[in-house]
Amino acid sequence: MAPIKVKQYINGEFLPSSDNKTFDLFSPYSGDFSEATSDDVDKAVVAAQAALAAWKALSPQQRGKPLAKLAQMITDADAELAQLDALSLGRPVSTYFDGYYAATHFRYFSEAAYPVGTSSLNTPGFMNISIRQPYGVCAAIIPWNAPLVFLSKKLAPALAAGNTMVLKTSEKAPLSSDRVAAMLGEAGLPPGVVSIVHGHGPVVGHAISSHMQIRALSFTGSVRTGRAIQRAAAASNFKHLTFELGGKSPALVFADADLDRAARETQHSIFFHSGQTCMANSRIYVQKGAAAAFVDKFNALAAARKLGDPSRLETTSGPQADKAQYETVMRYVEEGKKTGQMVETGAPLPAENGDLFVQPVVFLQQPEDSRIMKEEVFGPVVCINTFETEEEALKIANDTKYGLYAAVYTKDLDRAMRVAKGLESGMVGVNCTSPTGAWDMPFGGYKQSGVGRESFLLSMDDWLEQKAVFIRVGELDEAGTGNSTLG
Ligand code: NAD
Repeated sequence: MAPIKVKQYINGEFLPSSDNKTFDLFSPYSGDFSEATSDDVDKAVVAAQAALAAWKALSPQQRGKPLAKLAQMITDADAELAQLDALSLGRPVSTYFDGYYAATHFRYFSEAAYPVGTSSLNTPGFMNISIRQPYGVCAAIIPWNAPLVFLSKKLAPALAAGNTMVLKTSEKAPLSSDRVAAMLGEAGLPPGVVSIVHGHGPVVGHAISSHMQIRALSFTGSVRTGRAIQRAAAASNFKHLTFELGGKSPALVFADADLDRAARETQHSIFFHSGQTCMANSRIYVQKGAAAAFVDKFNALAAARKLGDPSRLETTSGPQADKAQYETVMRYVEEGKKTGQMVETGAPLPAENGDLFVQPVVFLQQPEDSRIMKEEVFGPVVCINTFETEEEALKIANDTKYGLYAAVYTKDLDRAMRVAKGLESGMVGVNCTSPTGAWDMPFGGYKQSGVGRESFLLSMDDWLEQKAVFIRVGELDEAGTGNSTLG
């Protein structure tokens, strides 16, 4: 395979970075990955400013044309995009939905117009309205685990709202976004409307989050980076921020649940991307009495995972994304062996290139206050504990700083509704876990799992300013003078 080259996409052109620096990507293939500088971010912002007036002056229908074309181009390139993510981050093509997800987002927003504003007659002498307008130059910083999911969640609503965008990819996974960058011009997006820059967080990401001309920024990634971004935004221009952060998602399985379904779905959630998803249910609580049967079913499914080359369709679990990720996961596993009971699932490691694979790990009876129960591991590691009562289940499920996703499995509808209401979580699955197909529901977390919500029309709220316009109507007052009650 020829060495891969990735360059900055700024103002409609592929360019080396201002100092020609490159970075290494963990991948079995060699490449040449350009590392952006803060000058490159400035260049992208200048281009975004220059493109803004013409872009925001278009009607939603006119802006929608290139977005719809981009959706089609992504659909046509789906298999290739899947291979690029398999190559750079080990994402199995068998579980790849990102191309479909991205195309759906761009297609949806190609037909979206501004969400409605408000109007009011509550002030005598006035007929007031609020209008919504794009912020202007905006930005997005995305993680590596599902690059096109996050690229589309940010770009599609922001562009439809009339903003111009600078997007930074993760240094671990620039390939599929670089491929999409190559489609933007042909789709009809004018130069500067979208620039895509690559490189590391402390340099490129910081240049974006502290940039004085970027008015809104949407970030998906870890809590630690979210804090750094919030500090940088506060120290610069208080840009509008939205965050999609980490998780430690619980699944509550009651004794009356369909245990086959609960075991099948929860093991898929934690293992399908080797635990490297924000919504993965890494804590499973099973009601005593059903625990032994559930654990047997769960372990049998974990043992049947096919670990191997992510580019092959028969593979159901790939490697960890890089060495650092692998080492972090193994540190948690070693610690977990000391604090709880580890079940050897025995899913066979691949015969070749097995270095970064972690066999699915199931821990039983971990203390609730152990690190493995409290911290996001981002690996194929699940803890299964038990509970007796509904009250206890809710208490332990909510005893976390996170609140992204939670699931409840039971056939008792009243209980399901009570538990759904009681869970401190931005998303709750009732007899299901981590559904990725529910595009029109608010996506986001409680507590330290995030600030704001994404998905479809709701996403446009975060890319639009609101302006109140007070319109004096000059109605006659009691004295018949036409004065308004204000001013
Ligand atoms: P990360 O926070 O390490 O990196 C995310 C992005 O931030 C990358 O592009 C990185 O280069 C950049 N970055 C790093 N330091 C920065 C800094 N100082 N300033 C600005 N940008 C900086 O996260 P990751 O390892 O790429 O992704 C995994 C994390 O993302 C997990 O915590 C996971 O739960 C979370 N995540 C959340 C969601 C969600 O929707 N809630 C979805 C996917 C992933």
